[in-house]
Amino acid sequence: KSFSDLGVIDSLSEACANMGYKLPTPIQAESIPLALQGRDIIGLAETGSGKTAAFAIPILQALMEKPQPFFGLVLAPTRELAYQISQQFEALGSLINVRCAVLVGGMDMVPQAIALGKRPHIVVASPGRVLDHLENTKGFSLRNLKYLVMDEADRLLDLDFGPVLDKILKVLPREGRHTYLFSATMSSKVESLQRASLHNPVRVSI
Ligand code: AMP
Repeated sequence: KSFSDLGVIDSLSEACANMGYKLPTPIQAESIPLALQGRDIIGLAETGSGKTAAFAIPILQALMEKPQPFFGLVLAPTRELAYQISQQFEALGSLINVRCAVLVGGMDMVPQAIALGKRPHIVVASPGRVLDHLENTKGFSLRNLKYLVMDEADRLLDLDFGPVLDKILKVLPREGRHTYLFSATMSSKVESLQRASLHNPVRVSI
């Protein structure tokens, strides 16, 4: 099956081809059609499976229909992963000039606050730092958020981000928000995060 067969619009299928993605990977083939139907997804997949594009493509497709600032928030456990995710969003979304901001710890808050002032479409963040900005950066709000992704959820929880995730979830809208949780493993902690944040999810594993 091609990306078009999964329901991906032509401009995004072309962006995939330009990146050398000839065919969808198994996690993409399973999850993209469900995501395009509007389902919440639990994806059991490891790094290297193509999971980033599996969530980036449906988010970009929805964004292209109705571009809006602060459309998607992706939470990631490490700085490197956050930058990789942002790069894939920018490459796949280059046709619409998708704007991403990366908010990670150990870096100055001020340039990040300036990036937020430009009203990016997608925010990729570590949980601690996005909470810090939600509490301290004037004018930054996620009240219109449409998509939340928790990537490598098992690692987020191993790093004790659980309480921070709970605080973030409290300030995000529930109505009209889609949520994707990706994890290499399922544990009772991941299950309870899933129950707190996903609505009638489908589980996809490869
Ligand atoms: P990820 O699991 O998201 O970290 O992706 C692993 C690598 O696979 C990244 O370098 C992606 O650019 C690449 N990739 C993602 N989807 C595809 C695809 N459909 N075909 C070929 N490579 C891909």
